[in-house]
Amino acid sequence: MPGDPARASVPSPIDDPPRSVAPAPELSVVLPFYDEQELASQTLAAVKLELDKTGASYELVCVDDGSSDETLAQLQRASLADARIRVTALTRNFGKEAAMAAGLDAARGRAVVVMDSDLQHPPELLPALVGQWRAGYEIVNAVKQSRGDESIAYRLLAALFNQLMGGVAGATFRGASDYKLLDRCAVDALRQLPERTRFFRGLVTWVGFRTTDVPFAVAPRAAGRSKWSTRALFRYSLRNLLAFSAFPLRLVATSGAFTLLFSGGLGVWTLYRYLRGDALTGFTTVILLQLILGGLLLSGIGVIALYLGAIYEELKARPAYIVRRDESR
Ligand code: UDP
Ligand code: MG
Repeated sequence: MPGDPARASVPSPIDDPPRSVAPAPELSVVLPFYDEQELASQTLAAVKLELDKTGASYELVCVDDGSSDETLAQLQRASLADARIRVTALTRNFGKEAAMAAGLDAARGRAVVVMDSDLQHPPELLPALVGQWRAGYEIVNAVKQSRGDESIAYRLLAALFNQLMGGVAGATFRGASDYKLLDRCAVDALRQLPERTRFFRGLVTWVGFRTTDVPFAVAPRAAGRSKWSTRALFRYSLRNLLAFSAFPLRLVATSGAFTLLFSGGLGVWTLYRYLRGDALTGFTTVILLQLILGGLLLSGIGVIALYLGAIYEELKARPAYIVRRDESR
């Protein structure tokens, strides 16, 4: 019914008054949240306390990475109480890398800090990071001096992964963390990279810029639990290695070349013994060769298949994340 007053009073999205857009702040702090209801408010308060010390204008870009607990509701309440807190909610759990990318896209500051929202990246370090930025550095890395309460498996895997990645990127990843301050120029450079499978730590190293380090000690988790199982960590490491380096492919090529050399030598030797009339008897050599060659071939195909999978993912060109509704103000 066109004349129905009840109907006419229903607000339509088009009638919504435009939200006031605050001017861009000096600093943005990107915080990815996934099921952090025990810590969310505490983290926001601690980060604000430290940012106030810097005297800079700031915004907190909170990305809810599809939390299944009360995290999003808490963030939204905090945002209503303080206009500097902006919330971006993703439609599901896309993973920390995607959540950080969403935060970088939403951040408007002239410098952007990315940090964990579970207080393992101590907010007390923020003034030091900002200090280095003001001194002219474009990327300030917070580097782990101690690794908090990580398990032995985690440490071993991290050490192996950092070693491998360091080898391919020509940089050191030892102690590297996702706790970083990036100048606007570095943020824009990162956002322009076309790849979907992102390895934040690696890409930040890759883009270059004037860089410095600030040491910190990883705090133990105050509440909640780490979202990483050893299996998830392994898959994450593999994904990043594939996204970042062709080293495994070169390894296949190199082992192929060595196998060729070895088989050439063995072939000549076998022929020689055959002609001399004392050819090898028994199947041991044959079986061994079959196994070695079979193993090499299959693992070579496996490595190629992994890259094919990675290329397939990139080719689909799906967005790294989907925002449920932009809660940003
Ligand atoms: N996180 C996220 N999405 C995920 C997993 C984690 O946004 O799928 C966030 C999480 O809320 C925290 C940070 O990433 O702020 C680090 O996660 P976690 O503490 O589980 O990792 P750890 O410190 O054990 O490496
Ligand atoms: Mg943590």
